[in-house]
Amino acid sequence: MERRELFSFLSSSLKGAGNEKEIIIRPPYYSDITAFDTECQNCDGKCATLCQEQIIIIGEDKTPRLNMKESGCTYCDDCAIACKPNVLRVEDKQLIDAGIRINESTCMSWQGIMCFSCKDPCLEDAIEFKAMFMPTINQEKCTSCGFCISRCPSYAIDIIQIKKEHKDDI
Ligand code: SF4
Ligand code: SF4
Ligand code: SF4
Repeated sequence: MERRELFSFLSSSLKGAGNEKEIIIRPPYYSDITAFDTECQNCDGKCATLCQEQIIIIGEDKTPRLNMKESGCTYCDDCAIACKPNVLRVEDKQLIDAGIRINESTCMSWQGIMCFSCKDPCLEDAIEFKAMFMPTINQEKCTSCGFCISRCPSYAIDIIQIKKEHKDDI
């Protein structure tokens, strides 16, 4: 199968798999998750306005969530500094509550086609290849920044909602 045909096959099989279910990933600066439902209701969403990567969107429920389909989080603190109601606070900085996984059935490299599209944007060098194929994400290194997601030509990098531990060296 040619590379283009395989890409088309992988894309269509992914769409058919119904992987579009919404998960809510919050900006990585909160300690009380219930505050989103109370404080954000009376706010004009400054966190979203000031995010330079434009990955914060305000949902219909008026609370912020991350959309990493086109960019990722630099952990720059700007959203927390902008949040006057203190739902987000720099002191509560943590890893994004998301697991990042490579879907082996849709990843081109796992199908035997050479591809390193996800490797370059990963500043943590968390994507490891075995003999130039079969990439996996080293969860010890991954900060869930999301910058690899949009680079994958076959949409093979998935986000899974998980609770991560606070980390001091982000
Ligand atoms: S830390 Fe920076 S890049 Fe990440 S969501 Fe907040 S403002 Fe956006
Ligand atoms: S700035 Fe703070 S209070 Fe306002 S929407 Fe963002 S997280 Fe909620
Ligand atoms: S989400 Fe993880 S694997 Fe992807 S670029 Fe960020 S640190 Fe690297």
